[in-house]
Amino acid sequence: MTDLPYPRILVKVSGEALMGSEPFGLHPPTVARIARELVAARELGCEVGVVVGGGNILRGARVAGEDLDRSTADHMGMLATVMNCLALEAAIEAAGQPARTMSAIPMPTVCEPYARQPAMRHLRLGRVVLLAGGTGNPYFTTDTGAVLRAAELDADAVLKATNVDGVYTADPKTDPSATRYERITHDQALAYDLKVMDAAAFALAREAALPIIVFSIREPGAIVAAAKGEGHVTVVSP
Ligand code: UDP
Repeated sequence: MTDLPYPRILVKVSGEALMGSEPFGLHPPTVARIARELVAARELGCEVGVVVGGGNILRGARVAGEDLDRSTADHMGMLATVMNCLALEAAIEAAGQPARTMSAIPMPTVCEPYARQPAMRHLRLGRVVLLAGGTGNPYFTTDTGAVLRAAELDADAVLKATNVDGVYTADPKTDPSATRYERITHDQALAYDLKVMDAAAFALAREAALPIIVFSIREPGAIVAAAKGEGHVTVVSP
């Protein structure tokens, strides 16, 4: 399908999105719902890569301490993203769509190691590619991992699924006067220090001229709507 605005998408799903109403870990019905949405985006005609976070299990910065240095804690966080990818991979395949997990931290008995060319091939063959382990380096986030993979896999946009329907001038949960941006530039997102993604992710997206579509994962059908260039979203673009 050539009339899609973003023929190849890279969807960023946070670990928390997979938690549903649970306080920790995975909520299988929510994992299944997100899997079906990713399959629907594939059926629309998009090639679909997915970077999954790990915050529902472990965040390195939170558990690092006197006896656990930050790099080790971040490696634990990256391993959490692998678990989430495997859960999502299984749910996508259960929904009838071939999927492959590729990890930035090689663990060949569990999933494929990430490499660009095989990842591109999976995408071209229509498989949903789940990119585990973030960037593979400590001190980074899976948001930066998502932009990095989107850039190297020639994706047309990053679809950033969050808990709110776009980027606001302030936190809409605490500031009732906050208003939603329809469209902002990477420069503005950086200058206003908007927290929807970290600065490293925005800076890389600016460098790669990659649009970031921010939308709420709580809205049913939101992934497909964002992939079509529709829905309640904020577009961050050059
Ligand atoms: N992480 C890392 N390098 C990366 C990506 C992730 O060290 O490139 C670690 C980091 O400890 C982070 C954890 O993995 O806290 C989970 O990732 P993230 O917090 O981005 O997950 P999300 O908030 O999207 O669920």
